[in-house]
Amino acid sequence: MINVCLPGTGGTIPLKDRWLTCLWIEYNGKAALIDCGEGTQIALAESGCKLSKIEAIFITHVHADHIAGLPGLLLTMGNHGRTEPVTIYAPIGTHYIIGNLCSICPFVPFALHVKELDIDEEAHAEWNGFDVNVLPLRHTMPCLGYSFTMHRRPVFSPEKAEAMGIPKQLWSVLHKGGEIELDGRKITCDMVTDAARDPIKITYMTDTQYFPKMTEFAERSDLLVCEGMYGDNGSDGKAHEKGHMLFAQSAAVAADSGSKELWLTHFSPSMDNPFDYAEIAQEIFPNTVIPADGMKCAL
Ligand SMILES: [Zn+2]
Ligand SMILES: [Zn+2]
Repeated sequence: MINVCLPGTGGTIPLKDRWLTCLWIEYNGKAALIDCGEGTQIALAESGCKLSKIEAIFITHVHADHIAGLPGLLLTMGNHGRTEPVTIYAPIGTHYIIGNLCSICPFVPFALHVKELDIDEEAHAEWNGFDVNVLPLRHTMPCLGYSFTMHRRPVFSPEKAEAMGIPKQLWSVLHKGGEIELDGRKITCDMVTDAARDPIKITYMTDTQYFPKMTEFAERSDLLVCEGMYGDNGSDGKAHEKGHMLFAQSAAVAADSGSKELWLTHFSPSMDNPFDYAEIAQEIFPNTVIPADGMKCAL
């Protein structure tokens, strides 16, 4: 099971009741954090996300509201006695900024690796069984959207194995994707499994203007976490100029991409109650959620 949490939903600056946007993806006891604005270690603690599980941190871009929390997070992790290494993935050309930022916490008791990802659609990483793909976004600086896709093996069918007369002690070989010989017959894994299962896909896109390629990138996401800086459609000009999106635009991406659920996030500090604009998005994509900090789901 994949556990997902949105510990913060704000953009630009943290507010007293709204931490900055970041996403937590946990699988098999290990977690990835996407973005780390000011105070993220507190947002994570308030959401019950255990810092000791963090193995990788993916940074979308080096604006303060997405990166300024790194020293505090790393110091807190060190303070908790961490010794295992942490890998930070970030857009190409940002290594020195991350290095400078981390120079103010030089004595953390674990290794920190920084891997830069090209600002193009070919950039790719693998983490904890996920294929991680990127989309260059359209913001006021180089910025990456991320998708995390887990491909799932078909489920082993004991009924099929029994019907073929395969002894139980050989099931585990087939279960693990191997093949066996039985009475001169070659039996492969796909002969004793059910139909292929759809992959699980989580897509995260902030900060960006709307552009059509986002829809293709988010295609068939189980969960799309997308920025909605402004709820009011009258903010169109401001959103475009500042490299951000309206609720309605994010909802259109969710609908057109065939995604199952949309969580809006990165709300402008000027928007006191993002829920006031929920209907604007839900008319376009009914499965739109206006999350509060700490929203969770399991996939
Ligand atoms: Zn931002
Ligand atoms: Zn930004």
